[in-house]
Amino acid sequence: MNITIFGTGYVGLVTGACLADVGHHVMCVDVDKAKIENLKNGIIPIFEPGLEPIVQANFEAGRLKFTTDAKEGVEFGQLQFIAVGTPPDEDGSADLKYVLMVARSIGEHMNDYKVIIDKSTVPVGTGDRVKKAVQEVLQSRNSDLRFDVVSNPEFLKEGDAVGDFMKPDRIVIGADSDEPIELIREAYEPFNRSHDRIISMDIRSAELTKYAANAMLATKISFMNEVANLAERLGADIENVRRGIGSDPRIGYHFIYPGCGYGGSCFPKDVQALVMTADSVGYDSELLKAVESVNYRQKSKLFEKVSKYFDGDLKGKTFAVWGLSFKPNTDDMREASSRVLMELLWEAGAKVKAYDPEAMKETQRIYADQDSLDLCGTKEQCLRGADALLICTEWKEFRSPDFEVMKNSLTRPAVFDGRNLYDPERMARKGFDYYAMGRGLSV
Ligand code: NAD
Repeated sequence: MNITIFGTGYVGLVTGACLADVGHHVMCVDVDKAKIENLKNGIIPIFEPGLEPIVQANFEAGRLKFTTDAKEGVEFGQLQFIAVGTPPDEDGSADLKYVLMVARSIGEHMNDYKVIIDKSTVPVGTGDRVKKAVQEVLQSRNSDLRFDVVSNPEFLKEGDAVGDFMKPDRIVIGADSDEPIELIREAYEPFNRSHDRIISMDIRSAELTKYAANAMLATKISFMNEVANLAERLGADIENVRRGIGSDPRIGYHFIYPGCGYGGSCFPKDVQALVMTADSVGYDSELLKAVESVNYRQKSKLFEKVSKYFDGDLKGKTFAVWGLSFKPNTDDMREASSRVLMELLWEAGAKVKAYDPEAMKETQRIYADQDSLDLCGTKEQCLRGADALLICTEWKEFRSPDFEVMKNSLTRPAVFDGRNLYDPERMARKGFDYYAMGRGLSV
């Protein structure tokens, strides 16, 4: 099939590459000229395991094309995926300007029947708005061309996006007629072979399903962080509690890790957007607001611990920070806990030596003017002469470091672990002051 994808970010590029990899002909459209130029030269704008080889192979095979020309994109595919960003507006609601811009350009350039597929995460009712936007443009052209609007929210996880797309848990399709569902079914057929993963429903339910999924996952994290904060005060160990509750199949082990807060481009913005959607229909979503505020507080927990340990005097001190991306296996730093931590440290007059296996370039881009940031080539280099180590992301290479080197490099053997990577008793035996989340020493 000929398929067009608007937006060549984490979702659009993965979608385009995976659809091309199973044999479809895909055209990816983006307004970012540099990004498209780089892609044409084999340069992938993001770090996502397994993505680079399939982008390159399918580009070379001629099945994956890149363009900045919306007209060319609209004319190319019968299926038109919208995978552009939906960032938070000033009030926290989702900003639909990019989605509607694409909808209007589809209306402007289409010459035959199109299925317009919202893959971006969009508030309930967006399907109607996209339909209206396309209809208005078609009317201005005096055209009665047919089109359908479908919701097909994306559930991939950054860091494992290719795997998630190739082997999805489910493919949600929201539509109000059978014809577009059948076409999308055909496009997804190669990913739907062992058993039927397609769950079809009405458009509004599909739109709400995406927000409900992210809000549920965010709720699990904030719940565990709340219990971790309690455990800390009660002398309990949250890791024992986690194992104790996870063993109940009704609860399960997934997504109940305490830490220094969730980040990324989805959970924070989607929880906020759902709160705003609830407000717009006169519903006060108390639970979702609490999920958000618990997370907000959690992101400054590491800083509070460090500040207490040094009696509030951080001026002139240097801290090693391991892990800058919002989670492992990505270079994405949107809403990352590391950013809150580093910014609080700089405000308090401290310096930061930072290391991340993949997010150094992104950190450099975001904090290009920050004099109090020293980006280090290795995690060991980062420790040298620092007053303490602070861990924000649970990258594999941080799990079993050389603790002797760590102790000898730091001016004080203090470790503040936002991801509970080490065993508190073992750390104490090795001579560390080890502070984790909901376990070990309390400051
Ligand atoms: P992103 O910021 O990485 O990419 C968005 C891309 O859209 C950018 O390259 C931008 O230049 C492009 N764009 C903007 N306006 C455009 C236009 N008019 N025409 C063509 N391209 C345009 O965003 P993302 O992380 O891929 O997220 C996209 C959507 O998918 C969001 O709604 C997000 O909430 C949702 N989503 C993201 C993830 C994730 O893990 N990142 C997972 C599921 C769903």
